[in-house]
Amino acid sequence: MVGRIVVIGSNMIDLVTYARRMPERGETLEAERFQSGFGGKGANQAVAAALLGSEVAMIGRVGDDDFATGTLANFVRHGIDATHVARVPGVASGVAPILVEPGGENRILIAPGANAHLLPEDLLPARGLVEGAALAIFQLEIRTATVLAGLEMARKAGVATLLNPAPAPDGPLPEGMLGLVDHLVLNQSELAILSGLAPDAEIDVIDAANGLLARGVGRVVVTLGARGARLVGPEGVAVIAPVPVTALDTTGAGDAFIGAFAHFLVSGSSLETALAAASRYAALSVTRPGTQSSYADRASFARFSAGAAG
Ligand code: AMP
Repeated sequence: MVGRIVVIGSNMIDLVTYARRMPERGETLEAERFQSGFGGKGANQAVAAALLGSEVAMIGRVGDDDFATGTLANFVRHGIDATHVARVPGVASGVAPILVEPGGENRILIAPGANAHLLPEDLLPARGLVEGAALAIFQLEIRTATVLAGLEMARKAGVATLLNPAPAPDGPLPEGMLGLVDHLVLNQSELAILSGLAPDAEIDVIDAANGLLARGVGRVVVTLGARGARLVGPEGVAVIAPVPVTALDTTGAGDAFIGAFAHFLVSGSSLETALAAASRYAALSVTRPGTQSSYADRASFARFSAGAAG
């Protein structure tokens, strides 16, 4: 049983500048190095699933610039159906200027640009893609109203839904949104925020996840970085073990995890098998530099898995 994945979400161009230190206000400083990359949580998750062999379609918006051309080509290169990733005239593509200091400490600005132009009504022409999918994936880098409309469309059609509530919302989610989510996948700080606490609050992960189940979520997957993940659902709690690796660059690990989880889920794996594979896939991604550039294809993931098992 193999199903199609639809991602209703963002794409960005990461503009990463590596500097010896941050410039002061009003100061111009020569940087050491610059690199651009394809990013945006929606696109990252779509690419990870596609690299593993899933059939993936993306619904989103790009701007009226050269970044859009690159982003669309990147989707095509990965075999992702981007028929419903339209250009918005007179608007810039989403970008993420990122400044990185020598220790790896970074400062990030997100300029959503065209991503904010995907409106609830824009989902109607793409209805067939949503209704024919086995799984619809959402994040919060596009308008919340559009996410809500997409979740409603998927749920009405009996399509399983996955929400990655990232970046964490600065206010409460719309009434009823969590009740439309089958799989809520989030990190610890997002869990704290959704539970009404500060992002760095000390929380009991299982208690907090159970609180979200009580608000209507089907099941909760909490990613815990090098400590792996926890599945909290009506069946109880399961520990998803981390795969020990030497981490080089953890950016995009959460998206790698979600893309891989989605791929294995629609390929017919059980929840726990899909999560274990997601943990392996994300672990491999942290051993490689960059975001999408750190995502393995099917063959190299199979080699890594064989090594991890042995
Ligand atoms: P995070 O978004 O940091 O919670 O990471 C998402 C997932 O990536 C985790 O649940 C792990 O499966 C994996 N991961 C992240 N960092 C590491 C690490 N240092 N070692 C192994 N796995 C990791």
